[in-house]
Amino acid sequence: MPASAAPTPARPRPLVAGNWKMNGLEASLAEIAAMAGGYDDALRGRVDLLVCPPATLVGAAVAACAGKLAVGGQDCHPKASGAHTGDVAAEMLADLGAAYVIVGHSERRADHGESDAVVKSKAEAALRAGLVAIVCVGETEAQRRAGEMLDVVGAQIAGSLPAGASARNLVVAYEPVWAIGTGLTPTPADVAQVHGFIRERLAAALGEDGAGVRILYGGSVKPSNAAELMGVANVDGALVGGASLTAKDFLGIAAAYRSQ
Ligand code: PEP
Repeated sequence: MPASAAPTPARPRPLVAGNWKMNGLEASLAEIAAMAGGYDDALRGRVDLLVCPPATLVGAAVAACAGKLAVGGQDCHPKASGAHTGDVAAEMLADLGAAYVIVGHSERRADHGESDAVVKSKAEAALRAGLVAIVCVGETEAQRRAGEMLDVVGAQIAGSLPAGASARNLVVAYEPVWAIGTGLTPTPADVAQVHGFIRERLAAALGEDGAGVRILYGGSVKPSNAAELMGVANVDGALVGGASLTAKDFLGIAAAYRSQ
């Protein structure tokens, strides 16, 4: 085979992940059961689904999913145990049957002052516990206006990626802070630029494995814009906040993959 005809790496299997944030009581488990019920064979053949409820519901969500959807946490402590009142260890999430954990969400970076070093230590805790780490990155509106978007995302990637990362244990979510919960989204061209940049950085950090790491887009994804956003190069799924709270909208977003 001539060098120019080297096979393009296979596109990673897409993942649509729901981040419930601080929403959800026991009654909300009915939505998770409905998600599992609506995750039909055709959809299962094309996309992975994950729901990340608050820590209080992780165990019950695992039961409600009946093995169909994966369940994840929204944060974890770097340590496996100890005197850290109110925190949850990655091992505790794994013990409940979680398979993923989100780390470095912009709300935690802002509300709890989490630095890249802290996010990295949490991602390493996830790997230690056998979880897949979803590492979130993204620029603020002011940083985008100042033209610092790629510098900010590049620094977050460099500072937050866990040692030992691979395509099997790492997902990166690009979430422009100004798009979260606002109804605003970047243009597909902007998303393509940042996702392409993240892919390059992953390849530089992880070699061939960088091509297999899923890069999710997050920020005001809805059923009505999912197909366009999920069709952008190097977008391997979505991290969804508000629209993941109901089975109807969450499955409506996943349905973008029926035609991809
Ligand atoms: C999020 O918080 O991860 C998110 C993407 O929220 P929303 O979809 O509501 O913008």
